Amino acid sequence: MTLTNVLEVDGVVKSFGGFKALNGVSLKVSQGEIVGLVGPNGCGKTTLVNVVSGIYSCDGGSVRLGGKDVTHLPAHKRVLFGVNRTFQVPKPFKDMTVQENVELAWNFGGRHGSLRDSVLGTTGLEDLKDRVTSTLNTAQQKRLDLARALATNPQVLFVDELGAGLNPSELSDLAEMLRGISKLNVALIVVEHLMGFLEALTTRVVVLEAGKEIFEGNIKDAIRDKKVVEVFLGG
Ligand code: ADP
Repeated sequence: MTLTNVLEVDGVVKSFGGFKALNGVSLKVSQGEIVGLVGPNGCGKTTLVNVVSGIYSCDGGSVRLGGKDVTHLPAHKRVLFGVNRTFQVPKPFKDMTVQENVELAWNFGGRHGSLRDSVLGTTGLEDLKDRVTSTLNTAQQKRLDLARALATNPQVLFVDELGAGLNPSELSDLAEMLRGISKLNVALIVVEHLMGFLEALTTRVVVLEAGKEIFEGNIKDAIRDKKVVEVFLGG
């Protein structure tokens, strides 16, 4: 069986001044796959998310979405090619209802795709759709962030530390939700510090250190890998 690569990142370099935050990172992700992106603080995870989603332009390498080269497109255009992300600090419009926020995202995403009608159900927000966003609790706001990203009909969705600050039952709900999203053929790249959460969720993890990939594979092998252990334990 050949799986389609919806995302192909090839040798991406991103510098801030003279400092290379990403130093030749490559990554391929196939349709509906769930990949974990891990590594110590400052290793370049968020920079990679920003470079792929188009928030930052890169200084070398290329980004292809669904086979199309989007390396030089800005973020709002890349959304139309099927990539989106959640934010570590969710930024919905607080005075709008849940449904209005999702509608707005759908408009932003070019008003296409079949996910629109299932977004509230998939993210467990159906019963909260008329609530004003500012009245939601943290876990609900995170679900809304996921719903807004999903409403743009992504093929590739970066989920950036959505697990932080959630209790075990909320975490297990989140994992279930993400599994449901991947079944809709959306590839998920989950940036997360919580290894247990990733172990239950991902088929593959990519470990970054100092802007370079040092491991790619199954999480059980990652936690036995000498280099990965050294990076995480500072050995
Ligand atoms: P992570 O998400 O893995 O914690 P980041 O991608 O946020 O790491 O950061 C990687 C490195 O790039 C860090 O050293 C960080 O200080 C630096 N960096 C990230 N964004 C900027 C920026 N806008 N300007 C300057 N340096 C940055």
